[in-house]
Amino acid sequence: MVRDLLIATRNRKKKAELQEILAGWQVNLVSLDELEGMPEVDEDGTTFAANALKKARTMAELSGMITLADDSGLMVDALGGAPGIFSARFAGPECRDADNNAKLLDLMHEVPEAERTARFVCVIAVAIPGGEAQTVQGICEGTIITRPRGQKGFGYDPLFIPAGFTSTFAELGEDIKNRISHRGRALQAAKPLLQRLLNTEG
Ligand code: IMP
Repeated sequence: MVRDLLIATRNRKKKAELQEILAGWQVNLVSLDELEGMPEVDEDGTTFAANALKKARTMAELSGMITLADDSGLMVDALGGAPGIFSARFAGPECRDADNNAKLLDLMHEVPEAERTARFVCVIAVAIPGGEAQTVQGICEGTIITRPRGQKGFGYDPLFIPAGFTSTFAELGEDIKNRISHRGRALQAAKPLLQRLLNTEG
């Protein structure tokens, strides 16, 4: 039987990435854009997990569908884990990626190379309407360089070199990024959870 799974995002790339990972599954992925009147959820939690759980639970209750939600961001050691859950709006409420990157480089201008370690973190929550909700996490370790490099990707990609590579995420491109990224890893980790929840839901 084909089961519906709501992806609590309006981001087509996120849906496509999950579609690829779940290829061959009896699952019909539905995104928020395909449902009417779904509200924005205020991401006011203090952790990635709290935000992902809030989105998944809220959308599961409103839609009556098993729902997957994610929350992710960049954590820089020299900045005590910032920007963290504030990654999207690090430089202000209406800021662009370039503003966030400029602020990050500015705050780190005196940080020596050996201390420029950072990680992308992604937490995925899956919730059943009226039932359980669980989270899994994916992490990608790396370092922050001193000047943006590369044109691909989004967000902090031009500043982040994943461990074991010499190119930034923005230079590596989607295929390699999806294999090693925090989101790719979290999605892989979510597979057993999804398999169980999609099969046990009445
Ligand atoms: P979201 O939770 O996936 O919407 O991510 C929140 C913010 O974290 C984004 O707006 C970016 O600033 C940052 N971020 C998350 N994932 C990535 C990534 O893969 N590359 C670059 N920046 C990212």
